[in-house]
Amino acid sequence: MKINTNFANIAENYLFSTVASKLAAYQKEHPGRQVIKLSVGDVTRPLAPVVIAAMHRAVEDLAHAETFKGYGPDRYCYGYTELIDAIRANYARKGVEVKREEVFVSDGAKSDLGNLLDLFAQDNVVLVPDPVYPAYVDANIMAGRKILYADANLGNGFLPLPEAGVHADLIYICSPNNPTGAVYDRAGLKAWVDYAIREHALILFDAAYEYFISDDLPRSIFEIEGARECAVEICSFSKTAGFTGVRCGYTVVPDTLSFGGVLLGRMWARRQATKFNGASYIPQMGAAAVFSEEGEREIRANIAYYKNNARIIGDCLDALGIWYTGGKNSPYIWLKCPNGKKSWEFFDELLEKANVVGTPGSGFGKGGEGFFRLTAFSTEENTREACRRITEYLKA
Ligand code: PLP
Repeated sequence: MKINTNFANIAENYLFSTVASKLAAYQKEHPGRQVIKLSVGDVTRPLAPVVIAAMHRAVEDLAHAETFKGYGPDRYCYGYTELIDAIRANYARKGVEVKREEVFVSDGAKSDLGNLLDLFAQDNVVLVPDPVYPAYVDANIMAGRKILYADANLGNGFLPLPEAGVHADLIYICSPNNPTGAVYDRAGLKAWVDYAIREHALILFDAAYEYFISDDLPRSIFEIEGARECAVEICSFSKTAGFTGVRCGYTVVPDTLSFGGVLLGRMWARRQATKFNGASYIPQMGAAAVFSEEGEREIRANIAYYKNNARIIGDCLDALGIWYTGGKNSPYIWLKCPNGKKSWEFFDELLEKANVVGTPGSGFGKGGEGFFRLTAFSTEENTREACRRITEYLKA
């Protein structure tokens, strides 16, 4: 037996373990100090009541022979039509028409982002932005693919556009972006769609944070003309509705997507039928309730709570004259470390002097050096206190 030696090429992910060990060491030395974490990328608000009620009903279904469910319906790759139709209705509200056969329910975006790679040859060239959500890079390194980086920087507002003369086969776009919080407008996404069509490439569009968009910006790649010929969209209930622990997501593969005469949706259905037995019934029923009128109202209240935290952080940085992007249509605030500091240098100072923890930008790629990520997922009280401490420290 020979192991997959590509694993040796994956960089150790020191980012979150180093953040955790520095924090633990600081707390050991200063046991009385209350450190506030604005580094957490996980939701903290409880699930919407309508989702809880739907999941209770689903549990009850499983308690009785007449309503019991085993494996999900294989017609739609184990997705229940209640959920698939709720997803389609949600797309319709964005002016996007999606067919039942095009919606593939999953246990979350990360699984699909990794599993979709089964469909593509190893010698495809992959293009990812830098800085980047690390899972895109590591999943492709595991498969032995060559990766190109599109520089996201101050000059382009952390929204890189296609470069002439650069060819790629698979393109990752995450908008609103993790870690930078930057969001593409229609012209930006159209440039990528046109590029992908020209290069016969496929866009993997990660829409995990679409519900944080409140400005007039595209929430789906399929709002862009031509996207049905060159894109799949990977979505999640994790940040939309607090499902990080519950687990449910979906991927839309248009039936118009064909490469080398092969329909991608058919390949994906085959792949899922072979290696996946569907998302659990209970989360699927909870997820269907998310897109009901009541569900939409309740999840928007949670998102408004996080966005208010983002506004508090943004106001604090504005008052301090610190450059940042994100926060307005995203739970992430990506700031330029003050006084030309490097990411880890600023991390150490913020921890020591303000007892606030964020995430060093350099951990998301070379292009993140000198930047820092704060998140809006804490409580309002802690967010206000963290901002007070940051202001006090930076003004001192
Ligand atoms: N995509 C991005 C950009 C993320 O930031 C995350 C989680 O933080 C995911 C995907 C994973 O989502 P899920 O919980 O649905 O697997």
